[in-house]
Amino acid sequence: MTKTLDIAVFNGDGIGPEIMTPTLAILEKLAATSGAYQLAFNILPAGATHYAETGESLPAASLEAARNADAILLSAMGLPSVRYADGTEISPQIDLRKAFNLFAGVRPVRAVAGPLTPLKIPQDKVIDFVLIRESTEGLFHTQGTGTVTENAAEETLRITRAVSEDLFRFAFSLAGDRKAQGRGPGRVTCVDKANVFRAFAFFRALFDAEAKNHPELRADHAYVDATALWMVQKPWDFDVMVTENMFGDILSDLGAGLMGGLGVAPSADIGLHQAVFQPCHGSAPDIAGQGKANPFAMILSGAMMLEWLGLKHDMRELVTDGARLRDAVDDVIAQGDVLTGDLGGTATTAAAGNAVLVAL
Ligand code: NAD
Repeated sequence: MTKTLDIAVFNGDGIGPEIMTPTLAILEKLAATSGAYQLAFNILPAGATHYAETGESLPAASLEAARNADAILLSAMGLPSVRYADGTEISPQIDLRKAFNLFAGVRPVRAVAGPLTPLKIPQDKVIDFVLIRESTEGLFHTQGTGTVTENAAEETLRITRAVSEDLFRFAFSLAGDRKAQGRGPGRVTCVDKANVFRAFAFFRALFDAEAKNHPELRADHAYVDATALWMVQKPWDFDVMVTENMFGDILSDLGAGLMGGLGVAPSADIGLHQAVFQPCHGSAPDIAGQGKANPFAMILSGAMMLEWLGLKHDMRELVTDGARLRDAVDDVIAQGDVLTGDLGGTATTAAAGNAVLVAL
């Protein structure tokens, strides 16, 4: 029997709609070919352009439809020129993270030897690890509410037992799934600064407690400063890394740099009930409307969505299609003749999307 999955789609701002168009076409094609599942796309209004037109950045009806969907696909939102009265930018992607408690920011980092990565990767090594960034607390706890006086400014780092336990459970589960797929040795590294801060000693103790529940997986620790060094010197050694919000914010951009830039960096924000899949980059207003945007990060985010749905619903077809889609993007990048400007080519967004369809 064909399973129908409801996908909430936010086309977003700037290049958002341009990169979403080929992504939906590819996902539709995969579903039609599979026959095991159907994807029912529900395009929902939200974002800076919508705010400029209506005074609403994330309508309640869009939020509710997203809440009830099987998964949420989002391109990029926000425009520097569109702001609330207090001067801050419209950012429904952050509002969704808060509304649905999406604590696990999943940032896969994959690279092979070639022109895209700035690293010299030995022939026998592959960079394929996942950085999990806690996304609801940590040093972002007082975001927008820190205190500033004439002589001092203060923000608060908050680590809670409840969020950390969910986070570490998720990290070990992901390492187990990857091991089962032959994509890693089943190792989870807790990235912290437990040598200096009591909050991180607490974080680490909670990590160690969860590790005890997974004797089949390896658990270890690394300080965040050393991790930055090793991500450059021997990134192929990592499998799953899990860390606090601010550390993850910084390390995930380092990870995007290892891959060859934002145009190939997908992500997911995952909670206990909802998950948002979106590229790491923003709405790129400087190239919007010109057909120049690289759709690969958006397409790879779609691949992550298929894999996540497959694991959640125990449907092998979805997991397989997610992996096929990822491989197809890899093939197009490896062939190197249909790449957009950010990757050194001259292809249009539509041509790059079409090349992925052909590779499939
Ligand atoms: P950005 O990621 O949009 O752009 C940075 C640079 O990378 C630009 O030169 C852009 O042209 C290029 N770029 C980004 N994505 C690309 C792609 N797919 N193909 C080719 N080139 C690409 O970052 P920014 O300029 O700082 O932000 C622009 C807007 O996006 C802002 O309003 C910001 O708040 C918003 N933003 C949204 C998200 C999100 O929705 N998750 C994330 C970051 C920024």
